[in-house]
Amino acid sequence: MIETPHPELEELLTMMGAAGLHMAEIGACEGAAGNISVCMRWPVEPRALFPIVSEVELSKPVPELAGATFLVSGSGRRLREIIDEPTANVACIVVNEGGKTGQLHTSRHCRFERVTSEFNSHLAVHSDQLSGSNASFHAIIHVQPIHLTYLSHIPRYQDEKYLNTHLLRWQPEAILNLFEGIGFIPFRVPGSPELMDGNVEALHSHRIVIWAKHGVMARSSISVKRAADLVEYAETAAKYEYLNLLVGEIGEGLSAEEIRTICKTFNIEQNIF
Ligand SMILES: [Zn+2]
Repeated sequence: MIETPHPELEELLTMMGAAGLHMAEIGACEGAAGNISVCMRWPVEPRALFPIVSEVELSKPVPELAGATFLVSGSGRRLREIIDEPTANVACIVVNEGGKTGQLHTSRHCRFERVTSEFNSHLAVHSDQLSGSNASFHAIIHVQPIHLTYLSHIPRYQDEKYLNTHLLRWQPEAILNLFEGIGFIPFRVPGSPELMDGNVEALHSHRIVIWAKHGVMARSSISVKRAADLVEYAETAAKYEYLNLLVGEIGEGLSAEEIRTICKTFNIEQNIF
């Protein structure tokens, strides 16, 4: 959870930019793939950075988030370019009373028509995570890391138990950082209500979920960089697994017993191994 004093909008935009650039560096957001949003529940005055205001209907009513502010990447924008000119690539939405509509704030240099088409999923997951809680901040990132996404095309990795026991065995850090495991959603059409519902359910009990044959979504209540870290840990695990498949599966990985010992030593509760 974020403590006061709350970060300024500029700091949050810089963090979104740094996370977006790093996701590009690990090959997780080719072209304009991927999107990022953060939700803040403290009072924000966006007009200095985002002076142009219009009203938008939200994809789902979020009365519990009335007054909350989102920073969200624009449709068709490149995550790697947010760092260079944040306000050209990101919009700010303040949720109106009642939670059905919001004030969309954009910059004079805005380079997009609308926010990301996955904002329905972002909004629903932020709402699920923040409602009934006094947390003041939540960050979400969707990207398309090659190895994780490739493995999601192989039927046996579409089983959550198989996926997790095979991916989280290559480094001690894997289970320490991904102790709830990696969630899995069967293929759903991008931007669809079905993908949105799948994300809410999977991210309720996980901090990262694979969207079969598409990519991943990760969340953090601390920072957008922490969400990006989860993507990197999971993608590194998938790289090891892919490497092992390439060489004919000669690596043994950490044994279940070794992983349980690591967890005991570091006081990590998990029910994967
Ligand atoms: Zn995508």
